[in-house]
Formats: sequence, C-alpha cells, structure tokens
Amino acid sequence: MSLARVVGIETEYGVASAHLSAVPDGSAPPLSAEDAVTEIFRHTPQRHRSAHHFLPNGARLYVDIGSHPEYAGAECRHLADVLAQDRAGDAILADMLAVANADLAPRGMRIHLLKSNADARGNTFGCHENYQFSRSRELPTAGFVGFLAARQILTGAGMLPFPGEDRPATSSPLAPMFYSARAPYMTAATSADPTRERAFINTRDEPHADRARWRRLHVIAGDSAMCEATTAVKVMLADAVLSLIEAGDWDLAEVELTDPIAALAVWNLDPNARAERTGGRDPISCPDLLTLVCDRIADHLAPDELTARAFDLARRGIAALETGDYADVATELDWAIKHRVLSHVAASAPAGWDGPRVLRTDLAFHDISARTGLAAGLRTAGQLARWVSEEQVAAARMTPPADTRAQLRGAFVAACERTGRSASIGWAHLRLDRPPRPQLELPDPLTDHDPAVAALIAEIDSLGPAAPEPAPPRPAPLDALPERTP
Ligand code: ATP
Ligand code: MG
Ligand code: MG
Repeated sequence: MSLARVVGIETEYGVASAHLSAVPDGSAPPLSAEDAVTEIFRHTPQRHRSAHHFLPNGARLYVDIGSHPEYAGAECRHLADVLAQDRAGDAILADMLAVANADLAPRGMRIHLLKSNADARGNTFGCHENYQFSRSRELPTAGFVGFLAARQILTGAGMLPFPGEDRPATSSPLAPMFYSARAPYMTAATSADPTRERAFINTRDEPHADRARWRRLHVIAGDSAMCEATTAVKVMLADAVLSLIEAGDWDLAEVELTDPIAALAVWNLDPNARAERTGGRDPISCPDLLTLVCDRIADHLAPDELTARAFDLARRGIAALETGDYADVATELDWAIKHRVLSHVAASAPAGWDGPRVLRTDLAFHDISARTGLAAGLRTAGQLARWVSEEQVAAARMTPPADTRAQLRGAFVAACERTGRSASIGWAHLRLDRPPRPQLELPDPLTDHDPAVAALIAEIDSLGPAAPEPAPPRPAPLDALPERTP
C-alpha cells in the first residue's frame, strides 16, 4: 500500500472545435461545446450519456455542468494506480474523440479535448482530488490551505499571460509564463458552493462512505497535469501531510498563511517572494514552505519505489523554484516541460512569445489526442516523463484497482454489460434493476471482497443475457441539425 488512504482523481476536459480548412480570422468555431460533446458521446450506448455511468474499471465517465466531459477515476490505494487511472481516462476519451473526428472529417470539422484549466472565455475547470480522511480528527484547514497554496506552484501546469494583462517580470525564470493556471481564478480558502466561489477545498460533506467514520476531503484547487510525475508529487505530498495530521504529529500552524489567495497570486509571479504567516511568524517563500513540509513528512513515507521517486522529485522541484534553474525537472514537472517546449517555439516564431504559434502550441500541449496533441510525441522523445508504462495504462482502462471497493463495482458493471442488464450504481452502492434486487451498500472504500456482491454477480451470470430493452431515442445526427451560419 503506497497510500495511507483511498484517493481518487477527477478530471474535467475542455472542449474546442475547429474547421479543417482555412477560414477567415475570427470565424466562429464550427460546433458549440454542447454539440461537440454530443458528437463525442454519440457512439456510446445511451446509458453512457446519463449522469451516473460507471465503467468496468470502476471509474465514472459523464458530462459535467458546462458541457465538460469528466472522468472520475476509481478509488486507489497505490500511487501507481492513481497515475494509471488518470492516464486511462485520457486514453478512453481520446479513443471516443478519434471516432467522433472520423465522422466529422467529411464535414470539414474536428473536435479537440483539452486537459487544461481554463478556456478562452475565462471559464475555469480542471482536476479534483479526493482523499479519504478520518472523521475523528479535525482538519487544520487554514494550515492545510497554506500547504496547498505552495503545492499549487510546484505542481502547476504553467500558464501564458492573458493578452494585455500583467505578466511576470522578465527576471522571472519562467517569464512570460506563470506557474499555475488555476491560481488566477482562486477566490476563497474553502467553499460549499465552488461554482460560485473558486476555493482550495470544497466543504460539501459527501463522504461516499460511512459518514460516521470518514469524510472525503475534496481538493478542487490543483491544475490538471499532463505528466504523471507531476500528479505523483501532488498526491504523495497531500497523502503524507494528511497522515501526519491523522497521527496527531503536526498541526500545520507553521504553514498557515494570513492570506493564501494573495500568497498564491504573488508566488505565481515569483515563488521566492515572501508571504505573510499567521501567529507572528516570519514571512515565508514558496520553496521554504515546501521544504518545511518535506522535512516533516520525510520520515513518514511509505517505503515503496514510486513514493520515494515522487519525494525526490518534490525536493528537486523545490530547488528549481528557488534557483530558477529547472533543468533538473524539465521532463517531469508540467510548468517546466511546457516552458521548455514553448521557449523553443517562441525562439523561431516571428512574433516570439506573443505570436499565434506559441498560443497554438500551448493548446496542443493539453490536447489529449495522439494525432493533434503533443504529449505522445514528447513522451516518445523522452521530454515528458513516463512513470507508468503504456501496458499499465491499457490495463487500467479495463481493470479496477485491486484493493478497494472499485474492484466490486467494476466486476458488477462488467457483469451488467455482458448480459445487457440495467443497474443503478453509485460510489457507495450497487443495485440491479432488471430484474429488481435489493440495493447493496458499500460503505467501506477499503473493502475489496463482499459475498453479497459476489452472489449478485453469480446470479446475473446465471440469468444470462436480458431481453433487449426498448431503444431510447438517440440524439439527432449532426446532419439533421439546422445549418449554422458561420
Ligand atoms: P463533483 O463532480 O461535483 O466534484 P463528486 O466529487 O461527488 O462531485 P465524482 O465525479 O462522482 O464527484 O467523483 C468522486 C471521486 O471521489 C472519484 O474520483 C472517486 O474515486 C473518489 N472517491 C469516492 N469515494 C471516496 C472516498 N470515500 N474517499 C476518497 N475518495 C473517494
Ligand atoms: Mg466530479
Ligand atoms: Mg469532485
């Protein structure tokens, strides 16, 4: 077990569409985000488009508010599983996208799915992390938010400045980029209504588990990462800090910031700027705060190779923030990988950093398609680190993590799919609807076997294929939609 708890990562993807042939500058995209999402989900069975569709690997795939496809990875107890589940989400959606784009090509259009954090209209979306946390401990929220603010810079996706807005001084090693893409949107430390207030932590109390024993800490601040090494650092640090809190070994008072939103904004320009701390402590820089965290967790880490690797990368990343020399993390931390790629393009582009070529490359960096995105090529060229093998990613598309209740859910979904039976599924329950059977509760995320679930799966298999259900109406094919004026 390389994690001290159950961890699950959700990723919302941005949707964009483009004409395949040249169109006049300023032309509208050919498809609305809503129509593009309909195209992506067109070839999946109707039930895949419903709000609660779970996959045989235990994950949930759905369309979130604002027409964002979202993949919520299954519950994991190993860092390797977290990374493989996350990459499996990219791969599943990339395949659905490829089918949609093959259909759209004759009409001269293409859709892009972007694992990024904001669109051109200033809407923000991205990556949520979920950590099972003991109900018997108080979370020192203010200190944890201070830690998250510093972690946000270390594991940021790198962001180009908005046109016409303030940009980092040219003395910044990352100029003209910022470290975190999500940081400029953050407005609160915590919120129960994160669509209104962009917070570090969503306090809505939905444990998806026995609420007497656990809560689900819902971190909604982090940038989506293209490189799994960046995700590993993000999750390893949070898991280890939570373990110290649960053990009663650290109250995090020394990392509590007077104004975490202001600190995040300042560090996003210059990590070595000093942010005010509470309790009369000296102001602190981002790398110093992270060093404090690493010193605390160093002796409490799980003794597995991937955790050690993530901890080593965290230390190297902190040094890179401090010195401005990121050569040592240039293939592993998203902001460094992206800065290296964009610098290369800017150096030969006529308008340098300000031209359309850099903007296009920025989008391509987040594009999950192997055809139009950069990540696959960067991985092959050794410029974007691979911490899980392609075989692990392929396996994670079909197989749930072995040691959580995702195992039970995945087996149940697979049984329903092979027999064509409908069911109601949630993170903490399973219910066969055809024929109707009593709901089975799964309140313990750490359970990976359950006789009642095994019996229900055996019953499904003995029942065999269900008679076909009446076909639900399918959405109108695009050809039947009224033509849009350009
Ligand atoms: P929203 O989409 O509004 O954020 P939500 O957080 O309830 O809602 P889901 O998209 O359903 O979102 O994703 C839930 C995530 O929480 C999944 O990644 C899952 O693996 C993880 N998870 C489920 N139960 C637990 C738990 N008890 N502890 C930690 N993580 C959990
Ligand atoms: Mg979600
Ligand atoms: Mg969520």
